[in-house]
Amino acid sequence: MEKEILEKYKKAGEIAKEVMEYAEKLIIKQLCLNVFELAEKIEAKILELGGKPAFPVNISINEIAAHYTPCKGDNIVIKENDYVKVDIGVHVDGYIADTAKTFRIAGKDELIKCSEEMLKQALKIIYPGIEVKEIGRVVSEVAESYGFRVVTNLTGHGLERYNLHAGITIPNIPSGSGILEKGKAYAIEPFCTTGQGAVKDSNRAVIFMLISEKPVRMPEARKIIEIAKSYKGLPFAKRWLEKEFNPIKLEIALNQLVNLGVLHPFYILKEVSNGNVAQAEHTVIVDEKPIITTT
Ligand code: MN
Ligand code: MN
Repeated sequence: MEKEILEKYKKAGEIAKEVMEYAEKLIIKQLCLNVFELAEKIEAKILELGGKPAFPVNISINEIAAHYTPCKGDNIVIKENDYVKVDIGVHVDGYIADTAKTFRIAGKDELIKCSEEMLKQALKIIYPGIEVKEIGRVVSEVAESYGFRVVTNLTGHGLERYNLHAGITIPNIPSGSGILEKGKAYAIEPFCTTGQGAVKDSNRAVIFMLISEKPVRMPEARKIIEIAKSYKGLPFAKRWLEKEFNPIKLEIALNQLVNLGVLHPFYILKEVSNGNVAQAEHTVIVDEKPIITTT
């Protein structure tokens, strides 16, 4: 990897790390428990530190595994025993840091410790050429030793410039035939749960991504396409648009764009048996000595 690119990955990682510490303080010290305000503060911090959000901050609680970010009027407030998964994406010139951690005001319990141990053990064994199924094996063994299940249909992924899910996926079970290549960036992100170990789509999406530009008539839909283009293929939040649109027209335009295949909706993901879910994630650049950018 070129030195200039590596520096951008590292800068994105440093910002993401600092923002995660800020989020932890806000939650654990109970300085900001309103999820809408928390999301706005976290994203403002990313900008303040010189990065840009690579995706809307995900704040997914308990059985919600991923893809939740607040909208105006959601009014969710974090409670003492909630498992609060904060998933932060930062990019510098398109080079992404993707990191997540699970917080609980009442304190870390076995489920959270399990998620952190899964990630720790996975990062320990990374080298150029490692098969993804080896990572899945280590991760699932840790979950088993804690008496929990991994979420089998959520995976880590490759990262490329302005591409959040590039190339291979990294399962949390011993399967798949991909390998991690030297000089490439990957997000390693095990999830564990007290439930059955899988997630399903809900019927609500609050995060979207432009996949195919098509002609549309509705002015609001056109405007959304223009805004979406400015994110260069990275996901954006409905919340980011709420400031500029009439709420009813925004809803109609988003639905239309999803139905036309212009926008990809990231449906909010829920554990199938409503088990609690914990997640831990870091971004790593694979080398003889791997560079974990988000620590
Ligand atoms: Mn993430
Ligand atoms: Mn990720």
